[in-house]
Order: sequence, then structure tokens, then C-alpha cells
Amino acid sequence: MAEKLKLDIVTPYGHVFTDEVDEVVASGTEGEFGVLPEHVPFLTTLKIGMLTYRKGSQTGYFFISGGYSEVGPDSVTILADSAERSDTIDVQRAIEAKKRAEERLKQAEKFDQARATSSLERAITRIHVAEKK
Ligand code: ATP
Repeated sequence: MAEKLKLDIVTPYGHVFTDEVDEVVASGTEGEFGVLPEHVPFLTTLKIGMLTYRKGSQTGYFFISGGYSEVGPDSVTILADSAERSDTIDVQRAIEAKKRAEERLKQAEKFDQARATSSLERAITRIHVAEKK
């Protein structure tokens, strides 16, 4: 029986993380899901959210800006549009992105509102994940 899960987080910008962990919790478009070793394989889409993993007594947190997750019996592979570990998030940049998105949401005639809404969600989630260290 597999005792660990191999967690890989990959983005178009590069390989962000790889390690053997005990548990992963991620934000699927159908809701949050948890994975332990020996999980039934499945594929799902991810929404903007936080991914948490546990390795022994350590917990790690990532911002994930949506993408795909492939779960195997002893692996979790995340293919994300972008992903940052909580301690690498530039909070000031996220605050600026939040302000920019809020301004754009006030000018519906000039800016694509769906795009501004997802920018705002990314910024708010990054600020939230950055607090988890
Ligand atoms: P911004 O408007 O600040 O660029 P964004 O949400 O449009 O934010 P993304 O398209 O999700 O940015 O990401 C583009 C690249 O910049 C990715 O490599 C992502 O990891 C990185 N990135 C974006 N915002 C931050 C941040 N606050 N801290 C660290 N890296 C970031």
C-alpha cells in the first residue's frame, strides 16, 4: 500500500513544486477535495483557490489560479495557470492588482467585467494565502 503521495505543481512558467506528502486538499470547481494515499483516480478542474498539503507535522500552502488536477493512487499532479507558495507571494503586487480590478469594476463601459472579476478574485485569494505561513 502506498504510504505517500507524490505532489507535483506545474505551470506554464515552470515546475513549482515536487515532494512526497501525506495529504493534499485543493479547490476543485465542484468544491474542495482532499486526497490521501490510495485514493480512487480522478481528473478535475480547479478554480482560483488555495492548495494545502501536509507532510508529517508540516503544512504548506499554495495559491492556485485555476487549472487541472490529476489524482492517481499515489500521486497528485496540478497543472495550474499560475501557482505560488504562500511565502513567495508578493503581497504589495496583489494589493495593487486588487485596486486595479476594483477600479475596473466601477467602469463597466470601459473594461471587461468578467476579466476584472477574476483578477479581483486572484488578488484577494493571493492576499489570503500569503497570510498562511
Ligand atoms: P498581476 O495583475 O499582478 O500580473 P495576475 O493575477 O494577472 O496579477 P497571473 O496572470 O496570475 O497574474 O500571473 C502571472 C505571473 O506572475 C505568474 O508567474 C504568477 O505566479 C506571477 N504573479 C502574479 N501575481 C503575483 C504575486 N502577487 N506574487 C508572486 N507572483 C505573482
